Amino acid sequence: MALKRIVPGLYTVSLRIVNAFLLETDGGLILIDTGLPGSEGRILEAIAELGREPADVRQILLTHCHADHTGSLAALKEATGAPVSMDPVDAELTRRGETLRPAEAGPGLVNGLMYRIMSRRGTSRLPAVAIENELHDGQELESGLRVVHAPGHTAGQVAFLWPEQGGVLVAADAASNMLGLGYAPIYEDLEEGQRSLAKLATLAFEVACFGHGRAITGGASRRFREKWGRAGD
Ligand SMILES: [Zn+2]
Repeated sequence: MALKRIVPGLYTVSLRIVNAFLLETDGGLILIDTGLPGSEGRILEAIAELGREPADVRQILLTHCHADHTGSLAALKEATGAPVSMDPVDAELTRRGETLRPAEAGPGLVNGLMYRIMSRRGTSRLPAVAIENELHDGQELESGLRVVHAPGHTAGQVAFLWPEQGGVLVAADAASNMLGLGYAPIYEDLEEGQRSLAKLATLAFEVACFGHGRAITGGASRRFREKWGRAGD
């Protein structure tokens, strides 16, 4: 099974080191992120597991420009015909087939390890892809998802807040949950990333899911507040 249900209507597609997500809406499927290059087969398999066709994907949302999230974009855009949305700052790179700005390892041992593995792989170049729509902080999408700009990991990192099921935060790479809730593997700007985490900690959500690691399925915003909430918030 390529699919794992997080809450009714929202699924993880586990792609080895990274997760993509499928959201079922009245209007069809929303695909969030596309994995490394070569992940399209497994994502299409996940769509079939939902009893859907590739053409049922109405929109592809990208959380940021890194190759483990945009890698199979060209193939999946071709397969689904869906338009793509992302933050304009990161879209600038994706439109040119670029995936990486200079960055440093995030705090913690696992992140140091991830950073070394990722930097050994080098900068991937991908096919240039048109991004039809740009996402902005606070924007409410047709699917009910709210865009939360959460820069730091990249300048154009976004998270999505889904108000269903007590609130679900798709934190993407604003944080990770590999050996517990923690920082992302790398940061373009760690201090900005910390400000973004403090901002996410002010939101209310029962569930959180991540690009790297397992979903937190209960009391998630409390966990964010304990870790990154500012005193007095
Ligand atoms: Zn990333």
